[in-house]
Amino acid sequence: MVLAELGNQLSAALRNLNESTIVNEDTINTLLKEIGNALSKSDVSMSLIIQMRKNIKEKVKLDQIAAGLNKRKIIRKVVFEELIRLVDPGVPLWKPVKGKSNVVMFVGLQGAGKTTSVTKLAYYYKKKGWSTAIVCADTFRAGAFDQVRHNAAKGKIQYYGSDTEKDPVVVAKAGVDIFKKEGTEIIIVDTSGRHKQDSELFEEMKQIETAVKPDNVIFVMDSSIGQAAYEQATAFKNSVKVGSIIITKMDGNSKGGGALSGIAATGSPIIFIGTGEHLTDLDLFDPETFVNKLLGNGDIKGMLEKIKEVIPEDSSSLKEIAQGKFTLRSMQQQFQQILQLGPIDKFVQMIPGMSQMPQLQGNEGNLKLKAYINILDSLSDKELDGKKPITQKRILAIAQGAGRHPKEVLELLEQHKMFEKLIGGKVPGGMGNMGNLLSK
Ligand code: GDP
Repeated sequence: MVLAELGNQLSAALRNLNESTIVNEDTINTLLKEIGNALSKSDVSMSLIIQMRKNIKEKVKLDQIAAGLNKRKIIRKVVFEELIRLVDPGVPLWKPVKGKSNVVMFVGLQGAGKTTSVTKLAYYYKKKGWSTAIVCADTFRAGAFDQVRHNAAKGKIQYYGSDTEKDPVVVAKAGVDIFKKEGTEIIIVDTSGRHKQDSELFEEMKQIETAVKPDNVIFVMDSSIGQAAYEQATAFKNSVKVGSIIITKMDGNSKGGGALSGIAATGSPIIFIGTGEHLTDLDLFDPETFVNKLLGNGDIKGMLEKIKEVIPEDSSSLKEIAQGKFTLRSMQQQFQQILQLGPIDKFVQMIPGMSQMPQLQGNEGNLKLKAYINILDSLSDKELDGKKPITQKRILAIAQGAGRHPKEVLELLEQHKMFEKLIGGKVPGGMGNMGNLLSK
């Protein structure tokens, strides 16, 4: 998973807190040191880390916590909030308006992953039922239009560009005008990048911005830039009206923390992260979900989004979740549906507790899920519906019935418990009442 190492270290720090016999100033200092080290290793800037530590210290006043309250829980909650704050500028996200033409302009340095992300975003909206189109206004790089043509064909997306016109402003305006006339809902303009932030690039961007009057300007940045993220994003923001950010190449980049936190510090929200070269490798970025995933709490929101794609809205398990309940039967139904999604390694990472199991990558994830389904199939109706507790003796019998190791049965029950807690909102960052989410 994205930033897996950081996630493991943060989880370890919180585990140490849980296991400490007493909670005093020393415990907090040790926790803050461990969190600070973990963030610094993944490239988060020192000034942000210092600020975060200060915020946590200010929010957790041990001598003011009333007797009887769980200090560890309070500390965990504050840490959770501060981790979110690190990647969340707290401004509302831009949302396109259905039924009207929304013009989105992409900017960024060459090689950042602009053209790839343009196609991914067009495909993302197309899948959701919006009419989409791409305008290639990169007349600087030879082959840019061919790349758009090729990518757009893969996603069966309409596009516009020119092999002969050299003025990007003319191409951008012509393309946007054509698609606006056709009533296309999402019109994405891909602009050119340069190797460095040069004045010519910025001038060209400004002219295109004036010509097409975008509803949103998306700045695309490569995650490997690390701590330089803030400065680079600021340079772009000072030139055009950057509204949102996409960070690319978060797959396999253990140091993406610098880009994520640095960018958030500019005040522009990160809306998506790129997690691969394929059309569908674009994940919505939600700070709370991201931190939950990072800490191995799973990604219930993302999971429900995926589940909603394959499970009928009126299914009993979705209704149950909406009420904050989650039985083993819901788990069984959902795992069965998930298998229909095909390769599920990304999905497995959304399951609480599973994100930290490196052995579940690729096909292993599918096999694990099948094993879990076998186990769930061996439960009685009462056990599935939570009407009968599962005893030690039953665990052995279930394992035997499913042809699996008892340890796996325990593991599954443990995961179910975590799910249940998250869905019922019993952990910090849990989903609480899921009704809102499901009705979105
Ligand atoms: P542009 O110059 O900004 O338009 O960049 P491109 O879209 O041409 O991307 C540059 C390279 O990065 C290409 O080889 C892409 O396949 C690759 N790329 C883009 N986004 C991602 C991503 O999220 N993950 C990975 N692994 N590669 C990416």
